[in-house]
Amino acid sequence: MTNKLRYFIGNWKMFGDFSDFKIIKKINRFSHKSKKLYKKKKIVLCVPSTLIYNFKKKLSSRYISLGAQNCHYHQEYGSFTGSLNAKMLKSAGAEYIILGHSENRLEGETYQAIKKKIISAINQKLNVIFCIGENYKEKKKSRTLSVLKKQIKGSLEKKFVNDKIIIAYEPVWSIGSNKIPKINELRNTIKYIKNDFRKTFKTKKYPKVLYGGSVNPKNIKLFSSIVEIDGFLIGGASQSSKKFIDIIKNYYK
Ligand code: PEP
Repeated sequence: MTNKLRYFIGNWKMFGDFSDFKIIKKINRFSHKSKKLYKKKKIVLCVPSTLIYNFKKKLSSRYISLGAQNCHYHQEYGSFTGSLNAKMLKSAGAEYIILGHSENRLEGETYQAIKKKIISAINQKLNVIFCIGENYKEKKKSRTLSVLKKQIKGSLEKKFVNDKIIIAYEPVWSIGSNKIPKINELRNTIKYIKNDFRKTFKTKKYPKVLYGGSVNPKNIKLFSSIVEIDGFLIGGASQSSKKFIDIIKNYYK
């Protein structure tokens, strides 16, 4: 098994209240106990913004970081009813932020808006989990790679090329559907993203690329043969401490 650092990032979506800190407590206990593995894994839980501050206060852990799931692009306070900016999320305790998630793109989030959000998150020194992925129709038309290229070019810039950007490849058709890509296809797609990023931004550095979409304790082992994957963005299964812990355990089995 690889010694490379692997990310296990939970996306709780619109789930959870204060009592669900018990989920994080159990994951933290597991993380603490599994010291042998701990150097190999980074756990991040992206919870609803309403929970970040409370969880941060209760969680004194160097094993788990908290993250947010979106922000407004505006960097300062402003007349944006119902919105939160990166600065507010950072001050609540977020260290990471998911941006460009397909569920938000579907609501009309543009490449340009995502780019502005990334800039404001980077200005706050948040780690950005930048989501890209093709939908089912695009996949059927063999447009996966061109869609990914467009999404990368549309929202990233050379000046963002640093360790603060983690790309999450999440095929839209695999999210919450129990469907996952064929392993060979996925390996090629991950390699393509890494190479395309280097070419587009003329850098020698490979970006970190995660996979997300219906990851669960039963299928996680399939992904471990793809050494190019730097970790996983886990939606539904991250709402259960048992499933999330089993994903990590089974990955390293
Ligand atoms: C997600 O929404 O980022 C995700 C990966 O969801 P799921 O794991 O439920 O498919």
